[in-house]
Amino acid sequence: MEQAPLIALAGIGKIARDQHLPSIAATGNFTLAATLSRNASLSGVPAYRSLDEMCAAHPDLAAIALCTPPQVRYEQARAALEAGLDVFLEKPPAATLGEIEALAALARDRDRVLFASWHSRFARQVPAARDWLADRTVRAVDIRWREDVRHWHPGQDWLWQPGGMGVFDPGINALSILTEILPGPIFLRRSDLYVPENRATPIAAQLEMETATGAPVAADFDFRETGPQVWEIRVETDAGSLLLHEGGAALDIAGRTIAPDPATGSEYEELYRRFARLVAARQAEVDITPLTLVSDAFLLGRQIPVEPFHD
Ligand code: NAP
Repeated sequence: MEQAPLIALAGIGKIARDQHLPSIAATGNFTLAATLSRNASLSGVPAYRSLDEMCAAHPDLAAIALCTPPQVRYEQARAALEAGLDVFLEKPPAATLGEIEALAALARDRDRVLFASWHSRFARQVPAARDWLADRTVRAVDIRWREDVRHWHPGQDWLWQPGGMGVFDPGINALSILTEILPGPIFLRRSDLYVPENRATPIAAQLEMETATGAPVAADFDFRETGPQVWEIRVETDAGSLLLHEGGAALDIAGRTIAPDPATGSEYEELYRRFARLVAARQAEVDITPLTLVSDAFLLGRQIPVEPFHD
């Protein structure tokens, strides 16, 4: 039997261990050949600290998945594309719009596949929500994405440094779902950013947006939620309300719970299946709209200092 293409994993931290590793093993679309990380390694997998060294030792390496923080993503992706690898980018695809545009152009020039992944778009009920909304008139959208940063991101100092995006690290997941389920552009109108006095990025944000047809979209992102964790999007339409919750895994329409398609895999299994299809078809997938909304939130943002945050 033909061997699956060889892939490397870069940035062996929380998401690489929790999701990428088991999903590569479960789907079998790729074979994990090496890791690239400054400090960490995985038992039984050759580990490298330099991309050049890794590529020299594994000339058959076809692809790399970058699970590092966004601030170092561009340099790693550029080097990987120049080394001839297809590249799977964790979200957000880069720290800035300029970087992701440059990567997309480089991938085209080098005839490499670039996949800017948005894992939340692969949550089980997102396609059903998108399909139901396709025929409806949207009247209002209310997003609540509230989680406890100490629980979900312990010790992740990069989140609080420029380019780490603070609460937009999870908030961009909500925006990736929003821009998937609502066709047409979404405009940012107002942004309040609550920034701890000792940090560079917001711990909370309240956004006011608008759909192309003028329907209001409100978003409440908060890293200080120590009660029930909430990742939900409510859409009021001419045919009743739709509630996508549990980060897109659960769906209620007009008060009725919709059963998920049992054939759908986990978010990351679906991401690896998509990447494998893109690699086979030699096709890129780079949608920057969620990052554009975050960028607009910073451009229009009103900075409100709040008490210092200590991990
Ligand atoms: P993490 O636990 O901090 O892991 C990132 C790893 O990248 C680190 O362990 C580190 O390994 C490496 N790294 C390389 N350069 C670094 C630098 N300058 N500063 C810090 N680490 C550096 O982060 P994560 O939660 O896995 O998140 C990584 C990316 O995945 C982020 O873009 C995040 O938005 C995305 N993501 C995370 C989650 C989640 O639930 N955590 C979910 C979906 C997506 P070495 O020290 O060995 O180099």
